[in-house]
Amino acid sequence: MRAIVALLSLVGVVAGSAGRAEAKVHVVTTIETFADLARKVGGDRVEVKSLSRGYMDPHFVEAKPSLVIDLNRADLIVHVGLELEIGWLPPLLLGSRNEKIALGQPGNLDASSQIPVLDVPTTRVDRSMGDIHPQGNPHYWIAPDDALIVAREIAQRLEQIDPSGTAEYRAGLKRFEDELAKRRVEWEKRAAPLKGMKVVTYHKSWSYVSKWLGLQEVGYVEPKPGIPAPPSHIAWLIGLMRREAVKVILMESFYPRNTVELVAQKAGAKALVMPSDVGATPEIKDYFALVDAVVQKLVAQ
Ligand SMILES: [Zn+2]
Repeated sequence: MRAIVALLSLVGVVAGSAGRAEAKVHVVTTIETFADLARKVGGDRVEVKSLSRGYMDPHFVEAKPSLVIDLNRADLIVHVGLELEIGWLPPLLLGSRNEKIALGQPGNLDASSQIPVLDVPTTRVDRSMGDIHPQGNPHYWIAPDDALIVAREIAQRLEQIDPSGTAEYRAGLKRFEDELAKRRVEWEKRAAPLKGMKVVTYHKSWSYVSKWLGLQEVGYVEPKPGIPAPPSHIAWLIGLMRREAVKVILMESFYPRNTVELVAQKAGAKALVMPSDVGATPEIKDYFALVDAVVQKLVAQ
């Protein structure tokens, strides 16, 4: 409680000392990929910050005071939704005391709202059962179709918040669409040999990429999204991987490498550490570089 009071007084100080009438639209995003899309669409009219870094686990971000300050100044928050950030974003939004970005306001964009969501549970699931994807899979931002949906949503919201920038936002979106169409042909050509490749993934975070590139997900190291594997599951998974001749396990850098290496070794497979967001490694500076890196990793394994 003391920490929250301290945060709020800090926000007061910063808000009070902020300069007058800044022309830029302040966009805050929960992940770096969305920050990049907002920059591509918004160009010079926007100032964009991401609350998390691309090498962090986006389910669990530390709620630092500086994040509350970013949100206090924001005109627009763009978040992944589908409960990905439920453990850390709501208290930050509350602490920001910023009505503009409250749920239901134009300044609050749930980027999943137009996404064709995969892995929606067919029976009622809630977090008490351990599954951290109770509304379906929130890891949708890498596949081109979905990134395009998000970029369009961001452009629409920016127009709504800052109508005088409409022409620029539409031009920014068009540039992104054109570049994406070109890159997509390249990616699909390079990834064509991957069709039908059997994979195991650590977390259920590759479904959209697998669907896009035709990978066949045979199993998961986590028995349910968010649940660490008990030894019985590991033993079962190793047997499954041998039977199915699975050669790779996809994982993000923030998941336990030892567990994956052990499973891979016993199953005669290889652990592939995949970038899942812009900023996952220093070279991955934008969305296009992220998808390049994902395709490259898969093709080179
Ligand atoms: Zn997840």
